[in-house]
Amino acid sequence: MKLLVNITLSCLVACTFLSCHKQKEPINNIILLIGDGMGATQVFAGYTANKGQLALERAQFVGFSKTSAADNYITDSGAGGTAIATGSKTNNGAIAMDTAGKALSSILESAEQAGLATALVSTSAITHATPASFIAHNVSRYNYEDIAADFIGSGVDLFIGGGRNHFEKRADSINLSDKLRAEGYAIVYNLEDIAKAPERNTGCFIADEHPASMIDGRDDFLPKATNIALQRLSNNPNGFFVMIEGSQIDWGGHAQDIDYVIEEMLDFDQTVGYAFDFADTHPGTLVIVTADHETGGLSIIGGDISKGTVEGHFSTAHHTPVMVPVFTYGTGAEDFSGIYENTELYVKMMKALGLGE
Ligand code: MG
Ligand code: ZN
Repeated sequence: MKLLVNITLSCLVACTFLSCHKQKEPINNIILLIGDGMGATQVFAGYTANKGQLALERAQFVGFSKTSAADNYITDSGAGGTAIATGSKTNNGAIAMDTAGKALSSILESAEQAGLATALVSTSAITHATPASFIAHNVSRYNYEDIAADFIGSGVDLFIGGGRNHFEKRADSINLSDKLRAEGYAIVYNLEDIAKAPERNTGCFIADEHPASMIDGRDDFLPKATNIALQRLSNNPNGFFVMIEGSQIDWGGHAQDIDYVIEEMLDFDQTVGYAFDFADTHPGTLVIVTADHETGGLSIIGGDISKGTVEGHFSTAHHTPVMVPVFTYGTGAEDFSGIYENTELYVKMMKALGLGE
């Protein structure tokens, strides 16, 4: 009898424990990593060049994102970024504006309003289409100086990238860095100086226009900037949203240069690994790794994993409409498997953070 009671009790305890585990753990932090122009072949080129090893392979769930723009079968990075940032398909070239030219609110803006810390990191000008889609609103991605002006009043906690000239050497002679300083920002020009103002919002420009490519000596800027950003953002008890872009995978595709693609891909992959590591030590962190589109129509027609050699063939110098992979890791990663429109990424991320509605 006593034994039976014990068994019943332990069963009860076990059942309670199990059902407890079925309840969803809250998601506090989202790390969104966008490899611009990164299709499955770009990933596999990196995998082969790295002799059969990628941090990305630690991903727990994989999905596919359909990338077409509202007005075009083949998206650009404006419409592609806007879809992910705002949940709406728009015309090519637009930055967080709908097809009628009305501003669309972005997940970064919603996160900021909800008291989360927010950040943007990229290996292009911070005003370039992908990061711009999260913070600016413009009919044209090429209005860089107007896009820079949208950083004023955004409240973004941290941004790191190129594009200093769009803030400081403008046609209207206004120095936006001084305006940001008046808002309480620290504006710095190298990664090391970010640590000097830990309590303040910070902008870091490492280039007048775009940071160098890996081949031209960008070195470990992106993984380093990512670690600095995650460290900084983790201080916010309300959680954070950060978008980190490997911008130049795309440029390697446009240049039809397989070595350019591979070097940028491996730099991005190292960054992904650090984001996964962060999720390991910070429960409640969801990491999403995806692309806005594929670039170059890259196919791999030969290679050797043991030697790390890749023979790539580009079928175009432009973007292609193929689905791009979505890799996820950490809390809530399971909600991103399947095949869906790029706009669903916004819906899923908003839901994960409990924002909107
Ligand atoms: Mg981009
Ligand atoms: Zn492109």
